[in-house]
This record gives sequence, C-alpha cells and structure tokens, in this order.
Amino acid sequence: MDLELSPQEKALSVKARDFCDQVLIPLELAVDEHGELPMDRRAAVRQQVRDWGFAGINHSKEDGGLGLTMLEQTVIEEQLGRVTNGLWSCVWRPPVSLKFGTEAQKRAYLQPACHGERRGCFAITEENAGSDPRQVEMSATRKGDRWVLNGEKWFVTSYNASDFIIAHAHVDGDPDKPTLFLVDKPAAGLVHLRSPKFMHNFAFDHAELRFENVELGADKVLGEIGQGFELTKDWFVEARLQIASHTVGAAIRAAEIANDYAANRVQFGRPIRDFQAIDFMLADMAVEIFAAKTMLYRVAWEIDRKLDRKLVHARASALKLYCSEMAGRVIDKALQILGGRGYMRENPVERLYRDIRVDRIWEGTSEIQRLVIAGQIRKRGFETYAGWV
Ligand SMILES: Cc1cc2nc3c(=O)[nH]c(=O)nc-3n(C[C@H](O)[C@H](O)[C@H](O)COP(=O)(O)OP(=O)(O)OC[C@H]3O[C@@H](n4cnc5c(N)ncnc54)[C@H](O)[C@@H]3O)c2cc1C
Repeated sequence: MDLELSPQEKALSVKARDFCDQVLIPLELAVDEHGELPMDRRAAVRQQVRDWGFAGINHSKEDGGLGLTMLEQTVIEEQLGRVTNGLWSCVWRPPVSLKFGTEAQKRAYLQPACHGERRGCFAITEENAGSDPRQVEMSATRKGDRWVLNGEKWFVTSYNASDFIIAHAHVDGDPDKPTLFLVDKPAAGLVHLRSPKFMHNFAFDHAELRFENVELGADKVLGEIGQGFELTKDWFVEARLQIASHTVGAAIRAAEIANDYAANRVQFGRPIRDFQAIDFMLADMAVEIFAAKTMLYRVAWEIDRKLDRKLVHARASALKLYCSEMAGRVIDKALQILGGRGYMRENPVERLYRDIRVDRIWEGTSEIQRLVIAGQIRKRGFETYAGWV
C-alpha cells in the first residue's frame, strides 16, 4: 500500500492553497460584511478561477472538465474548505447529474457550466420535504409535448449566481416517478419569493422559489422519467465527499490558528500552551484531524480504484458524518483556546465556527447518515466499515 501523494496531487494541493490565500481569503471580510459576495466582484473571481486552472474540476475532459481523479479533487477541496463564508463555492462544480444528459443537453448545459459560462443550482428541498424527499409536492404534468411544473422550492443554494435550475419534481404528483428537469432562468411563472438570511454568510444566496405553471419543452427532462433519485444518488456521494474535504480543511485552519496563538499568548507569565488544559485540547484536535483526513483520502483513493458503487455510497455517508462532526468539535476547541478573540467576527475561527454548522444538516443530516450507515451494516455486515475491502 502506497500512502504517498503523487507529485501531481501534491502540486494541486499547493496550487489550491495559493489560490485560496491570494484570491479567496482576501474576500472573506467583504462577504461577511455584505452578507454575500458583492455582485460587482463576481465576474473577476470567475475569471481568476479560470486563470488558475480550476474550471470544471469534477467533470471529464470529454465533457469540458479537467478530468481529475477523486483524490485530486479532494486535495483541492480540502484547501477550499479553509476559506470562510462559503467562498469555496466560487470554484464551481457543475452538478454531476448533468453527465447523464443527452449530447444536446451536455452541449447546452454541462460544457458551458464547466467553462464557467453557465451555472446551475439544485432544487429538491421543499417546505414539507427535507430529509424525506418522497414528500416532494412539486408536480410535473404533460401538456401536449410540453411539461408544466408547479410547486415551491426552499434553500436553493447559489440561485442568484445561476442561470439554470435542476428541479426535482414528481411526474403527475406520483412519488414513484421522481424526475429532474432543467429550467432556464428567467422562465415565465418562475417567482423568486425571497432569499432569507442564515447563520453563515455565504458567497451566494439560498433562495425560496415558486413555480407557477412553468412550461418546459420535452428536451428539458434530465435522464429518464422516474430516475430522479438515481441521478441524485451520485450527486450525494460527490457532495458528501466535498463536505468531508471542506470540513477537514476548515478544522486544519482553525487548529493551526489556535496552535500559533497558544504558543504566543502569555498569561500568568507563560504561553498558554504550557497549561496542560490547552495542550491537551491541541492534542485531541490533532488526533481528530489525523483520523478524519486519513479516512477522507482512503475513500477518495477507493473511488479512483472503482470500488463498488454501493460501498462508495456507504462509505460517503460515514465520511460526511464523521468529518462534519469532527470539525464541529475541533473548531469549538480552537475558539476556546483563542478566548474572546475567537468570538470576534474578524477572526476566521469565529466564521469557521458558524460556517461548518450547516455541514451537519445539508446533503443529508447527521441523523440521516446514521440511518444509512446502520442500514448498510444490517444489509452488508459490519465489515462494510470494520473490514478492509
Ligand atoms: C444553508 C442551506 C443550504 C441548502 N441548500 C440546498 C440546495 O441547494 N438544494 C436543496 O434541495 N436543498 C438545500 N438545503 C436543504 C437541506 O438539504 C435540508 O435542510 C436537509 O436535507 C434537512 O431537511 P430539513 O431542513 O427539512 O429538516 P427535516 O428533514 O425536517 O429534519 C428535522 C430534524 O429531524 C431529523 N430527522 C428527520 N428524519 C429523521 C429520521 N428518519 N430519523 C432521525 N431523525 C430524523 C433531522 O435529522 C433533523 O434533525 C439547504 C439547507 C441549508 C440549511
């Protein structure tokens, strides 16, 4: 077993860290003060993502992406996770479900999205459908050779940075026919209700939308009728790995800041790290990060070696659960080590503390991940996690 990163993986990690230090971190306070990335700065950031060579990191070269392995994507995403205020989302990842589109859909959506000319957002959640997407009430009904969408969507991330939406609807209101639809903005009948404020400040918004008889051509169905969950499964795996990468990166940044502070902050005549209470917190933080990062790189490496899709799904849940909860514990300790300074908004640790809370909620809450993991243990045995396959 070779646990060393390749020169290419190491180089990508260094380049991503430099990109964050030079391009994204200088924007953090502006986003925190403004609530999101100011509109007049968005085009310049988009161009910098292209200039640095991070356009389309999650798609194949044939589809307009960079053709990176999962481990290569992971080392980049880990660095992006160090950055606060959701600025990681400036490095777009066109929805993975687009790769299941027709050739025409790939030309119209996926390829331009990889190049940063278009951007899509994903709308599944509704007021009454969160963890249980079978409760989705958005319906798609036929009208001649067209489709008509009706319903509301909540929490649509990056709506105001997107020019199309992938909307999850039930054909004829039947939960056995979940289906994805491509909706171009603007569309007659598509109403932006509001973009509420959240605990974090994020580069883009999280919108609530109403679809009132939004008409679409037959060519706007993504995949097959009834295939909505199947296509979304791949999205969940990718998103869960991305969250795991971000939370590992966030925990490392907070721990590094706390470690430096503990070495330099003097109280009672000596650096606070000389107090065992502080030193032990740093020790626990280091071990937690060590475990999470090892797990993260292992799963990314396994995906690159074509691990069975069901096992990938099982592992992605464990990874998302562990890394997001680990980051909560580590960043909480980092804030404690910083004392009052850790509670100041100008301190990155305070922002990381707020930012990573949502990682235990979106893309499947911690409770839903535990349900998936427990189900996998029952179906496939304990070795799913304790073995080494
Ligand atoms: C900032 C933000 C951005 C988001 N972006 C998007 C987006 O772009 N697109 C999108 O479609 N959605 C998005 N979401 C929605 C997100 O995926 C949901 O919030 C999440 O799936 C949980 O759904 P819910 O909030 O309705 O909570 P609920 O499902 O109502 O859950 C409430 C509580 O009950 C628990 N619970 C529910 N069912 C069970 C069970 N069976 N067993 C044990 N506990 C259970 C949950 O874990 C949770 O603690 C976003 C959410 C947020 C906060």
